[in-house]
Amino acid sequence: MTQNPYRLRLPGPTAVPERVRQAMARPVLSHRGAEFVAILSRAEELLRQILGTSNPVIFLACSGTGVMEAGLVNILAAGERVLVCVNGQFGERFAAIAKALGATVDVLDVPWGQPLDPSAIERRVAAAEYRAVVAIHNESSTGVVADLAAIGKILRHRPTLLIVDSVSGLGGIEMRQDDWGVDIVASSSQKALMCPPGIGIASVSPKAWDIVKRDTAMPRFYWDFRKAMNAGEALETPFTPAVSMILGLREALEMIHEEGLEQVLARHLRLSAALRAGCAALGLSSFPQAGTLSNTVVALNVPENLNGGDIVRRLYEGYGTVIAGSRNKLAGRVIRIGTMGSIQAGDIVTDLLHMEAVLRELGSPVKTGAGVAAAVEVLDAR
Ligand SMILES: *Cc1c(COP(=O)(O)O)cnc(C)c1O
Repeated sequence: MTQNPYRLRLPGPTAVPERVRQAMARPVLSHRGAEFVAILSRAEELLRQILGTSNPVIFLACSGTGVMEAGLVNILAAGERVLVCVNGQFGERFAAIAKALGATVDVLDVPWGQPLDPSAIERRVAAAEYRAVVAIHNESSTGVVADLAAIGKILRHRPTLLIVDSVSGLGGIEMRQDDWGVDIVASSSQKALMCPPGIGIASVSPKAWDIVKRDTAMPRFYWDFRKAMNAGEALETPFTPAVSMILGLREALEMIHEEGLEQVLARHLRLSAALRAGCAALGLSSFPQAGTLSNTVVALNVPENLNGGDIVRRLYEGYGTVIAGSRNKLAGRVIRIGTMGSIQAGDIVTDLLHMEAVLRELGSPVKTGAGVAAAVEVLDAR
């Protein structure tokens, strides 16, 4: 066990601010009482701003994957076809869920680390009838962001729905659900929203509601958005919500509101750019190409002579800094650091100090202070 403070620097779950932890430590409230109803509706109001929507927001007690499944069971009828865009591990997961549910699944395969090509999606939806297209907003396995505005534009005037996983995007990367024509956003509490894992979030467009309402969709009970909607009109959740977590989420959303959403998004951009620059100066280049870089996760190529697993292990064992490797075909070759949630410039600088020390221990030639210097240059420039 390390003597150092535990620094959770994963691309989720992320460190939870003291203010949020205090809010969750309050006594449990009746989930049907006036106090809780007020907190839930405030959380919904604040989340709508971050989502860029006037849609109702559904709260589920689950991790992000639960909401991905919920999104599908509510819109797919037996035999209906779905197109899943796959440019990383979470796209693969979405396709696996759709297959497990017995949907007819087509995959639009894109090399990992590259963005989705809207014109390729357009060709596919012109060639076959799809109930939905599924895209990952922020592919956490590669650090690539999707152009949802362009994808939404293609589908807006077709019957096909756009389902988006913004689990690691929401709150750290701009989301304009209504403007972009995103029909279902699936997200969860433990990434840029600064809470522990346990709350799933869905927001459903009127176009999607027309499909959700059909009785022909897949068998569903706990995930049934219709139940959530009926209860939601009464300002409640259909089943017992994760009460304490909702208190925490509401507090986290107030923090985002106080800082200002624009400032929060700008901070994510600035800190991710600074970390990338610092890592590049240490010989760790960005895995994805410029232009589609995530502001919430920095994915880095591991130098030829090193193994990503060794870097991850030494950062933890020697310094208490917990980053992520890759548990997929990029294993050993790509490491990932979260730049989302409540982080500040000091977190980035500390990451780089620790990274420099570990690279030196592993025999990589690094110039003393090079990472921090490069990061500070970016921080000063913005
Ligand atoms: C974290 C994450 C999820 C959710 O995973 P859970 O472990 O179920 O919370 C889904 N999609 C993306 C892109 C993620 O980063």
